[in-house]
Amino acid sequence: MSENKKVQPLQAVKGMNDILPPESARWEQLEATMRSVLLRYGYSNVRVPIVEPTALFVRGIGEVTDIVEKEMYAFEDRADKHGQAEHLALRPEGTAGVVRAMIEHSYLRDSPRRLYYVGPMFRREKPQKGRYRQFHQMGIEALGFAGPDVDAEVILLARTLWRELGLKEGEDVTLEINCLGQAEERRAHREALIAYLEQHQAVLDEEARRRMHSNPLRVLDTKNPAMQAMAEGAPKLLDFLGEASLAHFNGVRALLDAVGLAYRINPRLVRGLDYYNLTVFEWVTTKLGAQGTVCAGGRYDGLVEQLGGKPTPAVGFGMGLERLLLLLETLQLKAPVAAPHVYAIVPDPAELPRLLPTLEALRAAGVAVQMHAGGGSFKSQFKKADASGARFALVFGADELARGEVGLKSLRDSAEQVSRPLADVTAWAAELLPA
Ligand code: ATP
Ligand code: MG
Repeated sequence: MSENKKVQPLQAVKGMNDILPPESARWEQLEATMRSVLLRYGYSNVRVPIVEPTALFVRGIGEVTDIVEKEMYAFEDRADKHGQAEHLALRPEGTAGVVRAMIEHSYLRDSPRRLYYVGPMFRREKPQKGRYRQFHQMGIEALGFAGPDVDAEVILLARTLWRELGLKEGEDVTLEINCLGQAEERRAHREALIAYLEQHQAVLDEEARRRMHSNPLRVLDTKNPAMQAMAEGAPKLLDFLGEASLAHFNGVRALLDAVGLAYRINPRLVRGLDYYNLTVFEWVTTKLGAQGTVCAGGRYDGLVEQLGGKPTPAVGFGMGLERLLLLLETLQLKAPVAAPHVYAIVPDPAELPRLLPTLEALRAAGVAVQMHAGGGSFKSQFKKADASGARFALVFGADELARGEVGLKSLRDSAEQVSRPLADVTAWAAELLPA
């Protein structure tokens, strides 16, 4: 490269975001709150690969879904020495990978499992507010539990999280639930629905016409305003449910009622993934425009078997972390970013060898110390100390050091600067920590 040619910087892939400080601190806080809630409900962490065989998602999510048809980052790996190339995909969601891992390691043999994951997912969608190509989900999967109590549990776990984040249920986030019944019930409904859609061909858009035979339920999930009235009048799956499905649904509802959680039954609620049965739910908000679903999930009793394992009932959800953080920001519920406890003012970096043992001893004692040795005049370092949000400044000036001391000055009030011995940090470290 010629010397005077400026190198053009590269940019991140469209729809894939850098998360930098101070924003990253809000992610860490959210994750810490989530982990604390997950622990209280008995969920353990699983970490599975981001790349899986494409076939896993085709089989797991379903061939005629937006995700698999249009959104998946699927590619052919380089050929190995036999000329064979694997078909791989970046995971568009978390459940299929977790279920694959459970089957592969025979993890469901002895006992049911409550699991959670946090990490990036990838979908090739049109990037916009609340919709990205790399986004993050926290998801939970309760595997091996058949009863409606666990459906209620996963919904309530989300409610506890909302509460701890300061979100008001019924106002900032509301719960919608539906029951998709079992395959036979959906088949009977599907026939009635296809007949209905055929009668209303005239109002169907192109996508709906293409899908009316392959995935008619999804046609009702349309966002096209011209099709709303048609969708409203369509045969409802709830009217096709048998006794067992209704009993399960009523079981979930009774438990939600028992803890005073209000919900709306939305008979048109379906999920964009094929594996769901019985309970499906969404936690939605009206405060983020069209990208209103913050958390979505339901029961998927058929998936483990569909992916080659023993029949195992299962229920879970996926929560979009960008949307959740966006919602918190919109509602001005952003948690404050933690400030250091003290800011060390070091006018002369040559003194560092004399004071570094003190800083290290403070850190070992739990004190968060920030410093920029030689970072400008005494005055400008004091300005930085103020801006850092620290409660105290530690002044390592030449006079103080000559006396074997450090100056301690409150940045919150006008109290006089005092001195503390450099030698015995343990005697005064606690003063620097919040009460
Ligand atoms: P939507 O209807 O918004 O496309 P979806 O039905 O595709 O959502 P799921 O596959 O159930 O969503 O994923 C669960 C959650 O993950 C969503 O409710 C949302 O919060 C989040 N999510 C999904 N796709 C994206 C994306 N492209 N960018 C950011 N968050 C997303
Ligand atoms: Mg989607």
